[in-house]
Amino acid sequence: MHKGSFDVLILGAGFAGSLTAIIARRLGLSVALIERSRHPRFAIGESSTPLANLMLESLATTYDLPWLATFSKYGPWKRHHPEVACGLKRGFTFFRHTPGVHFRPTADNANALFVEASPDDERGDTHWYRADFDAHLVERAVEAGVTYFDRTVIETIAHANRWHLSATCPAGALSLDADFVVDATGACGALASAIGLETVDSGFRTSSYGLYGHFRHVLPWEQILDELGGASVRPPFSADASALHHIIDGGWMWVLRFDNGITSAGFSLDPQRHPASGAISPDAQWQALVTAYPSIGRQFRGAQATMPIVRTGRLQRRLSAAAGEDWAALPYTACFLDPWLSPGIAHTLFGVRRLARILGGADDSAPRREQLRTYSETVLREVELMDRITATCFARFDCFEILASVTMPYFAAVTYMEERIRAGKGDEHDAFLLADNERFRAIVDGVCSAAMATDAKGAAGLARETAAAIEPYNTVGLCDPAKYNVYPFAP
Ligand SMILES: Cc1cc2nc3c(=O)[nH]c(=O)nc-3n(C[C@H](O)[C@H](O)[C@H](O)COP(=O)(O)OP(=O)(O)OC[C@H]3O[C@@H](n4cnc5c(N)ncnc54)[C@H](O)[C@@H]3O)c2cc1C
Repeated sequence: MHKGSFDVLILGAGFAGSLTAIIARRLGLSVALIERSRHPRFAIGESSTPLANLMLESLATTYDLPWLATFSKYGPWKRHHPEVACGLKRGFTFFRHTPGVHFRPTADNANALFVEASPDDERGDTHWYRADFDAHLVERAVEAGVTYFDRTVIETIAHANRWHLSATCPAGALSLDADFVVDATGACGALASAIGLETVDSGFRTSSYGLYGHFRHVLPWEQILDELGGASVRPPFSADASALHHIIDGGWMWVLRFDNGITSAGFSLDPQRHPASGAISPDAQWQALVTAYPSIGRQFRGAQATMPIVRTGRLQRRLSAAAGEDWAALPYTACFLDPWLSPGIAHTLFGVRRLARILGGADDSAPRREQLRTYSETVLREVELMDRITATCFARFDCFEILASVTMPYFAAVTYMEERIRAGKGDEHDAFLLADNERFRAIVDGVCSAAMATDAKGAAGLARETAAAIEPYNTVGLCDPAKYNVYPFAP
């Protein structure tokens, strides 16, 4: 039997668990990291954002991890880590499709939206090829002195004065004690279930499930746009170097291209509109969806899946608490909503930063117990705000002009935060997406309520109202009708 005693025990070696382990080592803590799988392994959740990258930079600076900063932009990533695959992400693109007919670019971009997120490729964001990236972080964790056990099955987690974990790994039985446990096991919620915390999938406005895979030979969307006559107002970046969103009736599809020839693609679907009946296999459902939308079908006509198509249950889930006296769940373990607008990695990294400060005793203004309570409340509040925006977007997939307005508070919040952080004005307590800012939350509420009460005829009025509402946070010229839904990066 292998026995050990640690300051911190981290369950789950996804990028977030490994990064937390590395930081805990930098704080001088002894750390054990437990993974049930073995790297490299597939993981979903790949499209990063400027805020996520600013968080990586902030963690790199605070904890003296210069190698981590090289992952925060496309140029340095490719130069320093050519062996870790990624894709270039210069922004967000959205295209509204109609069943049975090809996508039709229009002179005023009435069915497309482009938001640039970085000034050039060198400083571009990335899609993380998680198999490589997560494996790399585990190697870094081991180098940093983390005691790592993979292919490990947790049997019990008990708590008396300290935590006690018993598990089985390939070398035999494990018996580990620790003062603090971090649950980074994602949807599994290993600690949460061991201590009897309830995971709920109710109480959300958003309702969606996923259908996704990795593919080779996906045609560039720009090629198809060109075949279709091209968009009249073109963005300053390629739609294939973006988080490409195809919007369909009752759902949307992400398409994220990596440099290694693999493309991540998936649908997030409203179960009311797309019942996930067991009678149709995930493969058949995938084929039916891409065939229903001819331009998407064209993009995927020669595509070959590199893995079986995955169909999930409801994506929305939340624990009743994200932390207790001597434990914490990282954000993706505590809750998840939907990949719409790619909030997941940034949300996770905001949580890692806050938890690292608590573990390191960086803030002595409140007892640790209180700081953990605030951590828990903040993580759950952040997802609540995303829920408000995402559910309204889903509800307004029927009218692109209204949908575009509903995305604007999201883009205003992230760009406002990015600017503050770049200007050195960011506060380490700041919540993701201004979720701790009551005034901003009220703005989101107002825009979402108005969007639900507006019909297509009122869409232009809603756009004007949204522009006025987000004005205090709109530092980059969003909601400008003269831009025809093309928002270049504004430094
Ligand atoms: C369909 C979908 C699409 C997404 N797309 C995006 C996106 O484009 N952009 C974005 O920002 N976010 C996205 N996300 C969210 C993103 O996946 C998460 O933010 C991210 O994976 C969090 O990383 P993590 O390390 O916390 O968890 P994970 O990546 O889930 O890692 C958890 C680890 O724990 C291990 N584990 C599980 N159970 C146990 C156990 N019992 N014992 C030990 N180890 C265990 C797993 O093997 C895994 O290695 C998406 C999520 C989903 C579901």
